[in-house]
Amino acid sequence: MKKYIFVTGGVCSSLGKGIAAASLGTLLESRGFRVSMIKIDPYLNVDAGTMSPYQHGEVYVTDDGAETDLDLGNYARFTSSPLSKANSITTGQIYQTVINKEREGKYLGKTVQVIPHITDEIKSQILRIGSNKETDITIVEVGGTVGDIESVPFLETARQCIHEMGRENVLSVHLTLVPTVSGDEMKTKPTQHSVKELREIGIQPDILLCRAKKELSESMRKKIANFTNVDVESVLSAIDVNTTIYEIPLIYHQQKLDEIVLRKLHLELRPAQVDNLSEMVAGYKNAKSTVTIAMVGKYVDLHDTYKSIDEALVHAGMGNKVRVKILKIDAEKLEKSATPEELLGGADAILVPGGFGQRGVEGMVLAVQYARQARKPYLGICLGMQIMVIEYARHVLQLEGANSTEMNPQTPHPVVSLLEEQEGVTKMGGTMRLGKSATHTKGHTHIRSAYGHEIIWERHRHRYEFANAYKESLENAGLKISGYTSDGMLVESTEWKDHPWSTGVQFHPEFTSKPTKPHPLFRAFVAACIK
Ligand code: GLN
Repeated sequence: MKKYIFVTGGVCSSLGKGIAAASLGTLLESRGFRVSMIKIDPYLNVDAGTMSPYQHGEVYVTDDGAETDLDLGNYARFTSSPLSKANSITTGQIYQTVINKEREGKYLGKTVQVIPHITDEIKSQILRIGSNKETDITIVEVGGTVGDIESVPFLETARQCIHEMGRENVLSVHLTLVPTVSGDEMKTKPTQHSVKELREIGIQPDILLCRAKKELSESMRKKIANFTNVDVESVLSAIDVNTTIYEIPLIYHQQKLDEIVLRKLHLELRPAQVDNLSEMVAGYKNAKSTVTIAMVGKYVDLHDTYKSIDEALVHAGMGNKVRVKILKIDAEKLEKSATPEELLGGADAILVPGGFGQRGVEGMVLAVQYARQARKPYLGICLGMQIMVIEYARHVLQLEGANSTEMNPQTPHPVVSLLEEQEGVTKMGGTMRLGKSATHTKGHTHIRSAYGHEIIWERHRHRYEFANAYKESLENAGLKISGYTSDGMLVESTEWKDHPWSTGVQFHPEFTSKPTKPHPLFRAFVAACIK
């Protein structure tokens, strides 16, 4: 029998459900089980691709080009779960499928309703992943907070799954908040209410993870257990961590979360292997030196916009045994500062991440010029590579006003322009150049020495491209092209001649980095910072 775990959240949002679900995945894998992860987002967007980062943070891209919620990134970093379009479910996508079926006449004259048609569709998508022969346990994270109108059909589906497959095959793990008031008094009432809400829908949680400033006392756990019908040993503390989130699975492991889950699911208690993770976390916590990287972007006031890049830099720190401090610099502030030195002087290296639209671009150009002239290591990702091209064209080739046609359609020197296949595209959803493709790296370049081999596979998410008309003049002036697509038609990476370390990539290396396997490009970048 295949096993399922539904992870829900109560009291308020942003409690770290994604990390909790992913940590549980880590622990079950550490005991030799094969885990698949699914994220449910109860919004009506078909995918996250059309949303601004201000809505839900970074858009995470899978190999098959799905534009998903950033929690899939957490799953990728914490587990080996295969991740594709099918691992991300939204209300919009479910309704679109059901409505398409209705138009095709597939419901044979029936009235199409939320129950059973919507819930059946949700169930079939979950079971399609869960019944795969490569999967033992499927963890389904239900986005939003219990009590939200939007999540009701998903919770109803979870209830049906528990009822149909039995409690020994389907578990409910609920993450709640135990807030602290007047000094350090911890309050259990919101947790009691949140469980009450869940039980009204017909779900009795099996395990409670209580997010709190400090560990819950035995008496507090007993109180919660009493009010919620959860065994006291299944009421766990989810305490805040300050150095690294990779410590979270270890904290749950100390409280025997994995053991409790396996027992409840009637699965064999195989030995846990968490030494690798413990060593890595300890190594990072004890690292003696720190490198400082300035990340110059336009959404810096938001915590989760560049989530995968932040994490990839930390992984690279782990790989190089240094702490990484990321200074988020607002590109627009840079435009207003007297000199770039003022804001960037304290950094060992500069990174310009991906982005869309005109705002902040001039500040990014200044940052790239500064990195090139001050000979500081530079990593440009997607837009960050395009800025490298624009900056070089303007300041080295003296092509005044050189730009991307995304920023200025009338630029006299369109050094970055729309892909031919993108001309005439009017629909926004899922129409960029998306997903995994091959890059052929050239010998004697930073990118080749980082990866160590010629052909690399990375994910894309962009519309604009290095304009080949400017290739020769830029190359002659010293902007090296270090990688191409397999057909040799598109530029995938660039670097500066005679500069200690620089690489701009049109793709997104950040999506595949793991703490246990830092991405080679980030690793090389951080190594260059140490130098
Ligand atoms: N806006 C740029 C493009 O569409 C870069 C996209 C990105 O950085 N992801 O090509």
